[in-house]
Amino acid sequence: MPILKIAQLGHPILRTPARALSKDELLLPATQAFIDDLILTMRDADGAGLAAPQVYNSLQICVLEVGNNPRYPYKPKIPLTVLVNPVLEPLTEETFSNYEGCLSVPNLRGRVNRYAQLRVRAWDRHGNDLDFVASGISAGTYQHEVDHLHATLFIDRVTDSRSLCTWQEFERHYKAKFVEEVLAVVARWGS
Ligand code: ZN
Repeated sequence: MPILKIAQLGHPILRTPARALSKDELLLPATQAFIDDLILTMRDADGAGLAAPQVYNSLQICVLEVGNNPRYPYKPKIPLTVLVNPVLEPLTEETFSNYEGCLSVPNLRGRVNRYAQLRVRAWDRHGNDLDFVASGISAGTYQHEVDHLHATLFIDRVTDSRSLCTWQEFERHYKAKFVEEVLAVVARWGS
């Protein structure tokens, strides 16, 4: 099972809406093997999530997992989750400011407003219905990954371009304040 190459900002596949899968297509051995590769690639790159278009496959599949992530040590945990044909529905008008990065956007982070609570509906990798609520920082991660399936990158949602920074300057100048904000979001939303 190979580690896949990750498309970088400027590649047209990142700007192409992904197509939905049928259940038969999802259950094909080739699709199941692809999902295994997507998970491996996310873990290899220390991503909190990875969407199929990011590895040059324009399908509505994304994976998320947050354990002890060195890229995002302050992120609340998310167990391994595979979403197929996901639909997100905000459950609140309330948003929070998330400092995001992306494996397809090299060395850049910026502030993005994300809904604080969502209903997530999708299939799992076996085509079973998923229907759950995601909250807080984790809700931001779901929005980032599902955005990829609709050809949207976090940089499109950065409301103040003056928040853009490299990863090194984030560590130096913005991380401490942002970690405080994360703790407040976790206290408010539980994750
Ligand atoms: Zn991304």
